Amino acid sequence: MTEYPVVIVGAGPTGTMLAAELKLAGIDAPILEVRPTQERPGSRAGGLHSRTIEVFDQRGIAERMLSAGTTAQVAAFNSVPLDISDFPTRHPYGLALWQNQIERILGEWTGELGVRVQYGCEVVELVPDDAGVDIRLGDDRHMRAQYIVGCDGGRSLVRNSAGIEFPGWDATISNLIAEVEFADEPEWGMRHDAIGIHGLGPLDDGRVRVVVTERRLRTAGDVTLDDLRKAMVAVWGTDFGVRNPTWISRFTDSARQADTYRAGRILLAGDAAHIHYPVGGQGLNLGVQDAVNLGWKLAQVVKGTSRDTLLDTYQAERHPAAARVVRDTLAQVALRRADERTKALGETIADLLRMDEPRTAFAGRMSGLDIHYDFGDGHPLLGRRMPDLDLMTADGSRRVFELLHNARPVLLNFGGTDGIEIGPWANRVRLLDVEYDGMWELPVLGEVPAPAAVLVRPDGYVAWVGADGPAGLEAALTTWFGSPQQ
Ligand SMILES: Cc1cc2nc3c(=O)[nH]c(=O)nc-3n(C[C@H](O)[C@H](O)[C@H](O)COP(=O)(O)OP(=O)(O)OC[C@H]3O[C@@H](n4cnc5c(N)ncnc54)[C@H](O)[C@@H]3O)c2cc1C
Repeated sequence: MTEYPVVIVGAGPTGTMLAAELKLAGIDAPILEVRPTQERPGSRAGGLHSRTIEVFDQRGIAERMLSAGTTAQVAAFNSVPLDISDFPTRHPYGLALWQNQIERILGEWTGELGVRVQYGCEVVELVPDDAGVDIRLGDDRHMRAQYIVGCDGGRSLVRNSAGIEFPGWDATISNLIAEVEFADEPEWGMRHDAIGIHGLGPLDDGRVRVVVTERRLRTAGDVTLDDLRKAMVAVWGTDFGVRNPTWISRFTDSARQADTYRAGRILLAGDAAHIHYPVGGQGLNLGVQDAVNLGWKLAQVVKGTSRDTLLDTYQAERHPAAARVVRDTLAQVALRRADERTKALGETIADLLRMDEPRTAFAGRMSGLDIHYDFGDGHPLLGRRMPDLDLMTADGSRRVFELLHNARPVLLNFGGTDGIEIGPWANRVRLLDVEYDGMWELPVLGEVPAPAAVLVRPDGYVAWVGADGPAGLEAALTTWFGSPQQ
């Protein structure tokens, strides 16, 4: 039986990104995907937030995404737009780009990296033991992995097999989403009525994307064209001659989060770990960022450079990030109720969000630019995203994000600190003497004191900040990149 260091279940955006991260770190992790090909019906998610664009920039693929979509101010809370054009980032916007396009671009990139996706491969059973996990496939073949990562979506077989609880909130509303043709010209745009929020938007190919809230909650059963017609007539008084659906699906506001992201050698990422209503457009973004947090850690554990306790930091960092999104979506669903009191509350919140400080705080969180992993007290950069500065290096000018393209950690010495040495970590962490004389500014926080040196993890978060010496550097290198003896 073939044994792999890591097997990923699910070739959605999360699994694909994770496989790329592992590959960049030198680990060949096949993806098992039940679909027969990469194609799947429906456009699904509508785009990316700023931090996810930055994450793709850290790997050198932001341009591919940007050239395929349209940049726009997409961050919003309860439909109140949150402009981030004044944020200190190279990408002070979101990107309107359908999920199937995002997946196509990710697929092309991972193909270039040599990632292997085994399509038509359904995982039906997992049997974990102390040394690994036996995987049974739908055609009765078996595989074995030291670690398995469930990126297999909200109904995750991996999560269920591992016995991981998925507590949360049952659905209160359901929506139908469809891609169809209309015989008649519709009333484009959003509509908010006593049933809920609905929308009709043109797709590039002349078809129509319909999102309609159902009058009564439904969570089960196949969705038919007739269901869609009835829901549309209830809202618009007509079905606009709807025909030829290429995709009809139902989603709800059920919100759940795995109580742990790891059970021994089984890990979860993306929708397998958290589901919520798509208001605010966060799910795909969370999944990609889960993958970028987990990939390098899992690679180091598999290679034996780090102990497997490093994987606990994945849970510690990413569980709170998704918990916050889940809470925000619960709040926004509550604010969608059509009664006068809820409307008044929504208007009050809109008034608040038009003031600069709340706007900045909420824009930071909806764009993902304010993410702060708790690495303890210290300089404001600690645990936050490293800004994409224009640096001067011995090889000429370089952007910080360029230095992260190969997903390896980098220690930047800005020249103010003596005794910065990488010693036994030289084969794991790249040390660069650099110059930068501009301002240090973080989204939401504003200007911060210039550090003398920073240790940047492969996911672009700052793991250590030097002030006037190497104090704490060895401890940080050991925590994140393994003991000096490796
Ligand atoms: C209407 C709608 C709008 C949305 N809008 C946005 C948005 O604007 N922005 C945003 O960020 N997010 C949005 N989302 C959420 C986004 O679509 C999901 O969060 C995202 O697809 C999650 O990616 P994933 O890779 O974790 O899981 P998925 O995309 O669900 O992929 C899971 C994969 O696992 C495979 N699989 C499942 N079980 C098995 C098995 N047993 N064996 C092998 N393979 C298996 C599946 O076939 C699938 O390919 C929206 C969602 C909906 C429904």
